[in-house]
Amino acid sequence: QELIDKIAAGEVVQRPSAAVKELIENCLDAGSSEISVGLVQGGLKQLIVEDNGSGIHKDDFPLLCERFATSKINEFNDLQSLVSFGFRGEALASISFVSNLKITSRKPNSDLGYKASFKNGVMLGEEPEAVNCTEGTTVDVQDLFFNYDARRKSLNVNEEKKRVLKLIGQFAMHHAKLRFKFKSDNQIQFSSHSVLGSTELQRREQIMQQITKIADKSFTSCESESTEYQVKFKGTFSNIGATKKYKEITLFINNRLVECESIKKAVERSYQSCYQSIHEEEGGYFCYLSLEMNPKNLDPNVHPTKKEVKFLFEYEIAKEIESWIFENLKN
Ligand code: ADP
Ligand code: MG
Repeated sequence: QELIDKIAAGEVVQRPSAAVKELIENCLDAGSSEISVGLVQGGLKQLIVEDNGSGIHKDDFPLLCERFATSKINEFNDLQSLVSFGFRGEALASISFVSNLKITSRKPNSDLGYKASFKNGVMLGEEPEAVNCTEGTTVDVQDLFFNYDARRKSLNVNEEKKRVLKLIGQFAMHHAKLRFKFKSDNQIQFSSHSVLGSTELQRREQIMQQITKIADKSFTSCESESTEYQVKFKGTFSNIGATKKYKEITLFINNRLVECESIKKAVERSYQSCYQSIHEEEGGYFCYLSLEMNPKNLDPNVHPTKKEVKFLFEYEIAKEIESWIFENLKN
């Protein structure tokens, strides 16, 4: 049974960046405004995610790593209209099967915080220990995959660091008003703490500039809507010729970071058409795109570890996006 649990856990949390994604989504669910992530050795030695969110009640500690225990869903119907990110109650449980996990948390308005360690889905000790700590939650994952040699050996420290850096940038773009920080081996790799813009849009453009080092005024932002397909679009796109280096598209659908091949292709085609129209063969792009659609149109039955999404009117929406981006980039 232990082996089965371990393998199942390794499916949900395939690598450090997957753990970071789950943990950041928990911070967002907890309403945090500041989230910081720290790695030691690409997250294999240690991976810490800290937030200033709503915290965890003492009584809830024993349940945190129980599989399918989640505070976020009551009825199956909720699935359809789900606004929060996690709904499987599997992330912390899975992590506890393949690491040494410690959680510290203090609820705002509470004098004391609590701390406990977890192993194989259960809390160690009778009760969490009372501690002094700052408001919010810290999840400390040590020795990830210590009992899963094959996985550990297949991972490369630098590659993991790069993936996490990219991921934090993606969350920072989408949640431009929140403050993210990322440290690796104690060096700051990214921080949106110094971003000054007051509107979300200004801040997003500044964050994208900070990530790409693309020059000022090299991004175009726009919004649109299709009532026919029940979808709203919003995006920030690098201008034609602004970059050669990047070919990256970040896509959020209903506030979830996802992959969608048809949308990606649509964005690529818009850029290709633009580059062709000025007789340039090839060029780069760095795009942020966010779609809001009727949750009923999204297919919720996609396997939890798959980021690829399916939805109604996918082909039509992709077409809309293609011409929408083309029109906006051309100017
Ligand atoms: P899920 O997010 O799907 O509910 P998780 O395993 O990710 O499952 O988390 C289990 C539970 O732990 C959550 O439902 C939530 O109640 C609590 N939790 C986890 N992380 C945090 C956090 N950063 N702040 C507050 N509560 C948290
Ligand atoms: Mg979660």
